[in-house]
Amino acid sequence: MSEPLVEIKDLKVQFDVRDGIVKAVDGATFTINRGETLGVIGESGCGKSITAKAIMQMVPKPGKVAEGEILYYYRDKNTKRDDPNVQTEIIKINELDPDGDRIRQIRGGEIGMIFQEPMSSLTPVYSAGFQIGEALNLHRLIPIKKVGDQMADVIQQYRHVTKEESREIAIEMLRKVGLPKPQERVDSYPHQLSGGQRQRVMIGIALSCDPAMLIADEPTTALDVSIEAQILDLMRDLQETENMAIMFITHNLGVVAEMAKEIVVMYMGKQVEKASAVNIFYHPKHPYTKALLQSIPKVGKRSSNRLAIIEGMVPSPFELPSGCVFHTRCPDYMPGKCDQIVPKWQEVEDDHYVRCLLYEEV
Ligand code: SF4
Repeated sequence: MSEPLVEIKDLKVQFDVRDGIVKAVDGATFTINRGETLGVIGESGCGKSITAKAIMQMVPKPGKVAEGEILYYYRDKNTKRDDPNVQTEIIKINELDPDGDRIRQIRGGEIGMIFQEPMSSLTPVYSAGFQIGEALNLHRLIPIKKVGDQMADVIQQYRHVTKEESREIAIEMLRKVGLPKPQERVDSYPHQLSGGQRQRVMIGIALSCDPAMLIADEPTTALDVSIEAQILDLMRDLQETENMAIMFITHNLGVVAEMAKEIVVMYMGKQVEKASAVNIFYHPKHPYTKALLQSIPKVGKRSSNRLAIIEGMVPSPFELPSGCVFHTRCPDYMPGKCDQIVPKWQEVEDDHYVRCLLYEEV
């Protein structure tokens, strides 16, 4: 039985810049369940990463969450978090002070994040062990004693990890993410590691505080295919052992097919389709999703066959097309309808949502 961990309702993120307002995310609505992977796909600039940053309260200025809700179903990490009987607190992330203690506890402590290019995300002048230790000092608390009646509510007190413990945990973390010779690698600097090893360190940092969710923003784009396969295997193994939710952001449909249980497709800040991975790949409904799938090279197809492309250009975010934002590129465009009516987000089959006039009775 799926349980929600993060729920996003009609999220709108805008950037108020000199040339106008850019609607980077316009009405995203989805749930990430405990222990499951949600894939978010779409071309660059479609709003995938900004949605993730909104969850972390990290939208860069002058961007802001203009409307909507981001709910986090918090359970103390020292309890059995996947037990539905454990007390759950619903935190409205979008109402938290972006510099306050609560969001700092969630950012890194509850939700870890890994990025596309580990070289620019790791600090070059600190060792791998030091950077894992930094996250531990901020977020890992060790229970020191239990006071009170064992039968009644147990009151716990905590302390921060010591330097020695932090080193031990860092070595353990590097071993867990499959880095060879972790006792030596713990003292390595980012430039002494390969691209795949750096990404493993990033995953180690993100996982060191036992997060309930990992946001992976194009985590394998900068890696070659064999390393990519290893990192994906590692993420799947860790998800199974740690029962962690993953929000997997990518433009690579092959990768998302391997990882996700459910998929959200975005185009120009709008969520255009959401369904199980099986339905997205075998029964896509939105013309944009169909076009994306047709543009994947197929094993066995003759190399002289041209790959399908999505006609036209991505519109300027300052001059979005009227009606359906995809109408300037859509092979199923209906003149007089698609350029005038904004399609609604609607469930067309069980748990299969789409934003397209082909499925609306107009
Ligand atoms: Fe294409 Fe019209 Fe559907 Fe938009 S609403 S995706 S233009 S058919």
